[in-house]
Amino acid sequence: SADIRLNLRLIPYSEDLWLVVARDVTKMMRLEQVRRDFVANVSHELRTPLTVVHGYLDMLDPDEHPEWAPMLAEMQLQSQRMTQLVEDLLTLSRLEAQDGIDSETVAMDSMLSTLRREAEALSQGRHLVSAEDAAGIDLIGSTKELHSAFSNLVSNAVRYTPAGGSIVIRLDRDGEGVALSVRDSGLGIPASHLPRITERFYRVSTSRSRESGGTGLGLAIVKHVLNLHHARLEIASEVGRGSVFSCHFGLERVQPRDGRPGAGS
Ligand code: ADP
Repeated sequence: SADIRLNLRLIPYSEDLWLVVARDVTKMMRLEQVRRDFVANVSHELRTPLTVVHGYLDMLDPDEHPEWAPMLAEMQLQSQRMTQLVEDLLTLSRLEAQDGIDSETVAMDSMLSTLRREAEALSQGRHLVSAEDAAGIDLIGSTKELHSAFSNLVSNAVRYTPAGGSIVIRLDRDGEGVALSVRDSGLGIPASHLPRITERFYRVSTSRSRESGGTGLGLAIVKHVLNLHHARLEIASEVGRGSVFSCHFGLERVQPRDGRPGAGS
């Protein structure tokens, strides 16, 4: 039937013979679809009650009951966190349901200045933020999704770097295309965690990221956005010295400026 999905593998058998191994993944894909729909529906349904809770919390005046102030502040913090979690889950669901991406021109000069401004705002002067850019490069893709991926990397860099550290955002041409990287001088990630770090809700240490206010979904979003752009995420990290997250885009993602494909400026 047309609804059957097979995964095919070719295995060399002898000089002129190959084995074809066909695995029926129909059921697995159906279950995956059920999971996706479930997460999307639950997240969507949580939005309205959260908005109501949030709205009423904002109306409560801590000055009227000073003894409630710490509790109100905590409730506000937690309801903001839940809202962020729901928004991140909805973003992931939307990305998972997509099989292609816009091909608009993404102006990287203005992307870099936006990211730098965001890093400075988040850091509130606690870190040295610099952006070193190869000027005049544009990418092809979705400005909105790329911005959300890059700003996740920037907010991680700020959150996992103690005050006094530095954050460098840069755009470079490399042999095969262009790379945007976010480097920090922060906590670093033990090598044993790197293979799983982009899985949803995977954390190096739960206390570390709970304190930092993350949802555990940031890098999963980054990974999805990059996959949709056929781009690659590379992570280099050393505990106690810092991390570099770089997003590598092939030449087909670089907007040609002089008519030659991939030639850039
Ligand atoms: P979170 O919301 O918990 O930050 P992410 O998916 O963005 O979730 O990141 C997953 C985990 O990877 C984090 O909990 C943290 O342990 C680790 N991590 C991410 N970015 C950095 C970084 N720049 N430096 C150190 N650890 C990081």
